[in-house]
Amino acid sequence: MKKILLIEDEEKIAKLVAEYLTSEGFSVVTMGDGEAGLAGFNQERPDLVLLDVMLPKLSGLEVCSQLRQKTNIPIIMLTARSEEIDKLLGLGLGADDYITKPFSLRELVARIKAVLRRGTSEQAATRLAFEDMTLDTEQHTLITNGSTILLTPTEFRLLEIFLRSPGRVFTRAQLLEGAMGETFEGYERSIDTHIRNLRRKLEKETSKDYITTVFGIGYKLGASRA
Ligand code: CA
Repeated sequence: MKKILLIEDEEKIAKLVAEYLTSEGFSVVTMGDGEAGLAGFNQERPDLVLLDVMLPKLSGLEVCSQLRQKTNIPIIMLTARSEEIDKLLGLGLGADDYITKPFSLRELVARIKAVLRRGTSEQAATRLAFEDMTLDTEQHTLITNGSTILLTPTEFRLLEIFLRSPGRVFTRAQLLEGAMGETFEGYERSIDTHIRNLRRKLEKETSKDYITTVFGIGYKLGASRA
C-alpha cells in the first residue's frame, strides 16, 4: 500500500482528501503545518507528498525545497488559484506536479497515480535519507547537516543496508554478507569494528547515535525504543 503524506492546513480539505485517498486504497497521514509536515516526513517515510503552498509555520515552498535537499520522492503541490503555477514553476522547486484548488478528487488520484508510475520507473533510489542524513549511492557521498562525511567502502555499504530498511534488525552475519560479501562465521565480529567506526563518524558530525545495538542479535538503524 502506498503511503501519502498530506500537508494541508485547511481541515475540511484535508479530511475530504484523506477520506477519498483512503477509499482508493492509499494510506494517508495528515499534517496541518509546514513544520509538522517535515517532521512527519522523517517519521512516516511516505511514498509521495501532497503539499499545500500556503501553510502556517513553514510555507509549502520552504517545505518543498527542504524535502528536495534530502529526497527525490514525488511531491505534488496544491495551489490556490491566486498562486499562478507559472510563477511556482519559475522558482524551480523541484515539485513533480501542481494541482490548482479547487480540484476534483478523481483528478487528484489520477495525478498521484501518474506521478507514482513515473517515480518507480526512474527509482533506483540513488538517494537514501534518514533524519539528517542523506546517502547518495551514485556519488558515493554521505551528507549530514550540510557537510560531507568520508566513509570507507565497507562503512558506506553498511549504512546503505541500514538506510534501505530503517528499523529493521540485522544480524552480524547479514551485515557481513551484505557489506563485504562474506559469510565466514568467524568473521562476524569484524562487523563490530566497522560499526564502531561508522558510529563515531556519524556522532562526531551530528552528535547523534543513529545505530542501535540489539543485544544478542545485531544492529539496526534508529532509536532503541522503536
Ligand atoms: Ca493552506
